[in-house]
Amino acid sequence: VGTLYVVATPIGNLDDLTPRAARVLAEVDLIAAEDTRHSARLLAHLGIKTPMVSLHEHNESRRIEELDARLAAGEQVALISDAGTPLISDPGFVLVRELRERRRRIVPLPGACALTVALSAAGLPTDRFMFCGFLPAKQGARRQQLEQWKEREETLVFYESPHRIHATLEALQDVFSARPVVLARELTKTFETFLQGSAEALLATLADDPNQARGEFVVMVQGSPAVSTEEGADISADTLLQALLD
Ligand code: SAM
Repeated sequence: VGTLYVVATPIGNLDDLTPRAARVLAEVDLIAAEDTRHSARLLAHLGIKTPMVSLHEHNESRRIEELDARLAAGEQVALISDAGTPLISDPGFVLVRELRERRRRIVPLPGACALTVALSAAGLPTDRFMFCGFLPAKQGARRQQLEQWKEREETLVFYESPHRIHATLEALQDVFSARPVVLARELTKTFETFLQGSAEALLATLADDPNQARGEFVVMVQGSPAVSTEEGADISADTLLQALLD
């Protein structure tokens, strides 16, 4: 019986593909890729000719039987997404859940993931963090979501695209005021940049240099500071402030 390999691919710098990932991609019978045209460039770079099928959010459920039948027939299959680790804000969860239920062998191959790459160099606390994925597209929903997370004490990590980075920074400014924010842009690529400051300061930086608003972003926000009460219980500064105001 075959194995499904869940293979992380680079998030920019192609040298970040591990030798193990390259070997597995070359040796499997089939690669299920989020976008076969996109991944064809990576495979061409590696000189790999393994056949591909698409597996994206619109056909994931339908592909399961086909991929499972191939695994049952003893074939080896690799799952990749456009960049980074599959299933992390990318397709694959439905497939992996279903194959686990069917007791198929699933082997993860570690590699790049924008959220851990960003956290590893941001200088914000990493002992606990919350990965929040992409914020809702609509302004009202986005603010409401941020309000819900306002008192979380762990570092908050978001994915963001260039066309919403302004709107997200504005929402962060409204909800988190002067809290430290780190923007990690174009990680592992030529224009990799880390910017830090309040959301307001970062908006000013982007206004001064529109190039800073281009590319892909990981947005990180420091958690709410914990305040110790007399009883020794930790409550957040926002909760305490609200109680005092009340
Ligand atoms: N599966 C990917 C991973 O493991 O990170 C994430 C895929 S998600 C569809 C794409 C988002 O990841 C981008 O909008 C951006 O927020 C983040 N991202 C991916 N590559 C990045 C990079 N090189 N620099 C900064 N952020 C990146």
